[in-house]
Amino acid sequence: MGIYESLGIRPVINASATLTRLGGSLMPPEVIQAMNEAAVCFIDMEEFQRRVGERIAELTHNEAAYVSSGAAAGLVLATAACITGDDAALIHRFPHLDGLKHEVLVHKSHRNGYDYTIQQIGAKIIDVGQPGQTTLADFEAAITDMTVAIFWFQGAMTSADDVPLADLIRLGNAHDIPVIVDAAAQLPPASNLWNFTHAGAALAIFSGGKDLRGPQSSGLVLGRKDLVEACRKHGCPNPNVGRPMKVGKEELAGVLAAVERYVNLDPAVLEQYSEATVTSWCDALSGIDGVTAQRSFPNEACQPLPRCHIIIDTEQLGLSSNDVMEQLRTGTPAIIVASDGDTGIFVNPMTLEAGEDQIVQQRLVEILKH
Ligand SMILES: *Cc1c(COP(=O)(O)O)cnc(C)c1O
Repeated sequence: MGIYESLGIRPVINASATLTRLGGSLMPPEVIQAMNEAAVCFIDMEEFQRRVGERIAELTHNEAAYVSSGAAAGLVLATAACITGDDAALIHRFPHLDGLKHEVLVHKSHRNGYDYTIQQIGAKIIDVGQPGQTTLADFEAAITDMTVAIFWFQGAMTSADDVPLADLIRLGNAHDIPVIVDAAAQLPPASNLWNFTHAGAALAIFSGGKDLRGPQSSGLVLGRKDLVEACRKHGCPNPNVGRPMKVGKEELAGVLAAVERYVNLDPAVLEQYSEATVTSWCDALSGIDGVTAQRSFPNEACQPLPRCHIIIDTEQLGLSSNDVMEQLRTGTPAIIVASDGDTGIFVNPMTLEAGEDQIVQQRLVEILKH
């Protein structure tokens, strides 16, 4: 921890989620080793980016793959790719899109902070339908000769009231409009690396720095070869719209190692550890007066893993959830959990290192029994 201590930065135990604000996730040794190896030698970056893409495409059963500097950058490049294809003259048009098709259809209920990435290069989002009542006919009616893509955000924004993704893919195919899935946090399961594209999505976009545990500034754009090639043209080192979203040789090596590791993981290990940890937390906390602790599933990003939902009787305990979170955050070691209003807390085992599950449990018992 030399670097953090020397700057007066306190390390925290992350019992919240793979949050970019906390550093996302921690890289396993094989990822760090791959980055170290890549760091000490010059290579042809375009060739390296292409070879890494080919290998990731193979590992993830996709036609093609591009490594971006994060899922958010992947959304920018995918949008740009849908607008220009590989037309060199059009690629240089950004940010001046007058006269170019540049409308993107999105369920109104899927709108979220990450869709800024679509708009930042000049594309226009057209909201479709109303939350809870959107039909395929709404999407059909929204298609015009300005439509370049349909974006689908998979995760907490997705609901049973959505037009099914399969129907949108059929609609998109009928009109030659690509459907792009933002699946940034949709790992596990590893099979999502190919599920969306095999279902007909033109591209599926993932964060390299969440459960994949690659470098923080890495992401994957997986799917159709022509669109992946267009992303490549928009991206660094080409002096185009993706030039500031540089991916270094270290990130390329690291994310490849992370994908190799991830597709070979036994999914039962994380699942069993998560279930056992949540059960242990629930057992230890449920007995405390004024505290209810329950298994909650799926977690905040809708990954198929459990969290512990702690509900506090604030009057009986004389503490709000914010008080408990503040004590966790300012205690030693510092622990970050997620808030659920004034009376609830979510505690997530997914981002903990070995042994931290017990530290979190002890601190929670101490604070809540007080
Ligand atoms: C995390 C997330 C992103 C951004 O991913 P980065 O790899 O941090 O750029 C985009 N979309 C959704 C839905 C996310 O959850």
